[in-house]
Amino acid sequence: MRKIRYVTTALNTMTNDEILQLRETKLLNQMKYCYRNSEYYQNKFKEIGVYPQEIKSIEEFRKLPIMMNKNLERSSQQESMDRHGHPFGMHFCCSPDDVFLTATTSGTTGIPTFSYTLAQQDINNLSKAVSYMLEYARVSPGDRILFSHALGIYATSAVLPGIRHAGVLPIDVDVRAGTAAILQYARLTKPTAAMMTPSLAEHLIQKAPEIIGTQVSDFNLSALLTVGEIAIGIPEVKQKIEEAYGCRVYDWIGPIGGSLAFSCDSDEYYGMHCVTPDFDLYPYDLVDPDTKQSIDMFDGVIGEAIYTSLDRIAVPMLRMASGDIVQVFTKECPGCGFKGLRVKVVGRSDDMLIVKGANVYPAAIKQVITTFRPDVTGEIRIVLDQAPPRVTPPLKVKVEYGANMDSSNLFELEEKIKEKLRQEVRVTPEIIWCPSGTLEKSMAKTPVFEKNY
Ligand SMILES: [Zn+2]
Repeated sequence: MRKIRYVTTALNTMTNDEILQLRETKLLNQMKYCYRNSEYYQNKFKEIGVYPQEIKSIEEFRKLPIMMNKNLERSSQQESMDRHGHPFGMHFCCSPDDVFLTATTSGTTGIPTFSYTLAQQDINNLSKAVSYMLEYARVSPGDRILFSHALGIYATSAVLPGIRHAGVLPIDVDVRAGTAAILQYARLTKPTAAMMTPSLAEHLIQKAPEIIGTQVSDFNLSALLTVGEIAIGIPEVKQKIEEAYGCRVYDWIGPIGGSLAFSCDSDEYYGMHCVTPDFDLYPYDLVDPDTKQSIDMFDGVIGEAIYTSLDRIAVPMLRMASGDIVQVFTKECPGCGFKGLRVKVVGRSDDMLIVKGANVYPAAIKQVITTFRPDVTGEIRIVLDQAPPRVTPPLKVKVEYGANMDSSNLFELEEKIKEKLRQEVRVTPEIIWCPSGTLEKSMAKTPVFEKNY
């Protein structure tokens, strides 16, 4: 199996300690850069009561309070609009003339924030990483890649320059053009690879025969690269998509356009491999989502990912609470032998529940239950009788049993599910069985909770 390597080639001959030292040096420089170039960071350091030059190590840095989050970013952005006439925020560190690309995330609530604001050097870094990911997935110069995300001002657009940089032609069909348009363009342009969300990939499996009269396997894709949802981390979903398309699915993530991670060419899913440790501290800095206290790093640790740029010009982030709950693996990848950190997305901090003092993530519950397919459909709802995060035990979970499941065997299945949840998620819920197809499934974002309060 091909081993994933770091994007910056010099890192591939360094030890983990040497890489950590390099990250430390870059962090200290990035802090000073932020302090010199933005009023926001000057005020933040003043509030905390330290100067950047007083922080000597990553360990000390990780103990600082959170310096940025979505709300702070929004108010910083409002202030720069009022005072300077641009939307990039008071944490913006260069001239508006130097902005190469700006983008925002789709699908989030509230006023959009322009976290994906990139200067030329920022986009060069990201593009190098995207090129490497394509090369690893054997997408080569001259290939065409069906690129079906929300385009333009939305974040995934930030990888388009990287695709072109790799000599690959993007067939960029905005996902809002609809399934029929996407399939028609695929039929006309004959792409050799594709990038989209896993739910769109699943949707096309069913729609391709209806709309263009062929199976998705007839596209003969050599790779499918997906982003944005917890799906490929679920073995049954990965297997279903790979079988239908007849190619490997790579799961990737590019937090705030500042770093990149992707999964390797392995049947089993070993998380996304963080190939740019010199671009961002991600995912080395984790906090408890409830208390925001720093969590020590060890293999399998779960926490909220904190973003800290190490090499960013336009909108560097220092200790930004992302709301993303991730699990980090520090051991060598059993699949490909990659020596760096690997990351698996577990959920969002807004969804976190606290049951008997333990942090519980609905997505983790769903992942465990999905492994019991086809005895269950994989569709679940967590029933809340009071506002989260605290739950009075037992946690109630509605679970759909499979269409061919004999309901007299449910008791035995229930015991098995409870035991696995107890072992893997540290929670023993009450299961409420629902017949197949009775929990509503949505193409967009299926609700996790059923709220009775
Ligand atoms: Zn691997």
